[in-house]
Amino acid sequence: MPENEDLTQAVYRVARELLPEMDEPLRREVASLLERAERGEKTDNLLVERISADERLRPRLRNALAAKRTLSCPPAAGDIVPPAARRYVCPQCDYVRYLQKAGQEPGECPEHHLPLIPYEQKAGSGC
Ligand SMILES: [Zn+2]
Repeated sequence: MPENEDLTQAVYRVARELLPEMDEPLRREVASLLERAERGEKTDNLLVERISADERLRPRLRNALAAKRTLSCPPAAGDIVPPAARRYVCPQCDYVRYLQKAGQEPGECPEHHLPLIPYEQKAGSGC
């Protein structure tokens, strides 16, 4: 994986990797979105939407993008996880969810179907 790949590029890469596993109609649609991306159009949101609609591919996409985020945004040294409620946000919009218990799954944004990330991760360092 390229080192300075941003999330948009990661979406394109994962979409390409998943192409062979897609059903024919979805594959055609995703292939055409990838072609538009190559011509400079931003189609990552559409790709996420289309791929997320497939029950089988959604977890693959989520995992790949979650791994990407972890790699590009390592927690700051001395980062303390407060025991109280933690705020989780969608990386693409302002959807917020509060988790009361440690180890609870933050879940995903109902609109973008992206795994929610800790608020500090989105607010901090601009990555
Ligand atoms: Zn969202």
